[in-house]
Amino acid sequence: MSEFTEHMKEVMAFNREQMDRASQHGEELKTRITNFIDSLDADDLLTLRDIVTNSTNECVGHEIEGIITGCLVYKHRRSWSGETSPLEGMTASASIEKQVASQEEERAANMVRYGLIPEGDYFACANCGQFYISLEDRMLREPGVKGCKGCQEKAKFG
Ligand SMILES: [Zn+2]
Repeated sequence: MSEFTEHMKEVMAFNREQMDRASQHGEELKTRITNFIDSLDADDLLTLRDIVTNSTNECVGHEIEGIITGCLVYKHRRSWSGETSPLEGMTASASIEKQVASQEEERAANMVRYGLIPEGDYFACANCGQFYISLEDRMLREPGVKGCKGCQEKAKFG
């Protein structure tokens, strides 16, 4: 057998291994999603179908992602990637920042860092509901309660 054929065989074996791993991951994901869908009631199913249908619209899809991430972080106190390590209040972003690579992810992380959720064409503070015209607008002030007028009022007056 020539060296070239030998090499080709190696490459093909490697590719097959990669594909096996990917399809295994795909199967696991499918099982997880199927089990989740199976656990929902009819109303939840209708909502989920709306989510999936609208996610194919890029803009709406990102908003839905933001809402889910917001819930994950602020309601369930998970990290951006779903880890259970406790967050230090609203400014715990060091671990989040490390994980972000692309600009899009950075934007999503900033949404989390500044506690914003998409609200139509605009944004709202996930904690107090204060309205923001853009992420950039919110980022002019520091993250957390200190930088949000609505949160400060909420802290003062309950
Ligand atoms: Zn606020």
